[in-house]
Amino acid sequence: MPLRAKVATSVSRTAAALSRAAGRGDGSVIGGWIGLKIDPDLLKNLAAGRAIALVSGTNGKTTTTRFAAAALGVLGPVATNSFGANMPTGHTSALAKAGATPFAVLEVDEHYLARVIDETTPRVVALLNLSRDQLDRAKEVAMMAQMWRTALAAHPDVHVVANADDPMVVWAAVNTAHVVWFSAGQRWHDDSFVCPECGSPIERANGDWRCTGCPLRRPQAQWTVEDDGVIDPRGDWHLVKLQLPGHVNLGNAATALAVAAEFGVRPIEAVPRLAGVASVAGRYAQVERDGRNIRLLLAKNPASWLEAFDMAEVAPTLLSINARDPDGFDTSWLYDVDFSPLRGRQVLITGDRAYDLAVRLEVNDVAFRHVQTFDEAVRASPPGRLEVIANYTAFQDIRAELDRVN
Ligand SMILES: [Zn+2]
Repeated sequence: MPLRAKVATSVSRTAAALSRAAGRGDGSVIGGWIGLKIDPDLLKNLAAGRAIALVSGTNGKTTTTRFAAAALGVLGPVATNSFGANMPTGHTSALAKAGATPFAVLEVDEHYLARVIDETTPRVVALLNLSRDQLDRAKEVAMMAQMWRTALAAHPDVHVVANADDPMVVWAAVNTAHVVWFSAGQRWHDDSFVCPECGSPIERANGDWRCTGCPLRRPQAQWTVEDDGVIDPRGDWHLVKLQLPGHVNLGNAATALAVAAEFGVRPIEAVPRLAGVASVAGRYAQVERDGRNIRLLLAKNPASWLEAFDMAEVAPTLLSINARDPDGFDTSWLYDVDFSPLRGRQVLITGDRAYDLAVRLEVNDVAFRHVQTFDEAVRASPPGRLEVIANYTAFQDIRAELDRVN
């Protein structure tokens, strides 16, 4: 590595460590920022000589990154940005901190994918899905697909692992030379009603889809989920036992196995490592309190709310909604989500914008009770499982509350 990069790496590590010591988070953003100030090519320099996988998409990228890093661990030490700092500052910091590792798996914010591909020259890029985040609308989803498509066209050597069930992802990846398709399902269809190629309606039936106006259609997937396992490209079925709940995470596991296979890792070696992942940045964490088994699920946009309902057991459920800066100030997205799966469950609501949620649940005919605090929610639910589904800052609030007591 050039001397400038060495100095920048060392300063970056120190800054991150100081920030952690001062109790200001994990320090990865500030560490990366300072490193890049000293050496603007630092990410490129740190990436050189490593075999890298990038994971991007609107939902599931933190979990899939964690699974893929666990799977690649079969081959040797893996650098990863496991705390979700998914912009170039976070990547720089993660690689600086890891020291010399032969492999890296990096979660990448979808807006930064083109730049991070340019700077890290990855061996593999995994594309999970594209849907609206907060108040972004379908037009921006199509723009994102176009950015991905352009980025991949500029890097024909990259091996792409892409979701066959998402028309936006397929369109972004379909012209690449090396592509492996996985099927992880797509619960949310509202951002891919029309074809990104020609604008005609997309027709769906039994998990298949095709454009009614041009040849774009669902490709045959080589990696699929069946029952509680994953089928690999040879047709072998592997039982996948996970600690993380839901069909969604089985899809994330299939994606991770497909990524690892691009590095030569066989599913039979990788599968046991996936079972070791218990929670991801606090998500899915389970906490015992007063006889309640509380499980935390993060839901940050309409598609991930649908996934959370799928993961949650039929059990008392606390919903918490805030509308602070990281969440977006406008809560009209609540009307994009169908809350009817919660009918018949004991539903409690809280958070800064609980009343917005109350109106939405009323319209959706879901009975609920408003509670002022998390404590009150715990007292209001019977012993046993309490599912907590919260958006971003509401999730952080509840985590802080649980950390304080436990
Ligand atoms: Zn079309």
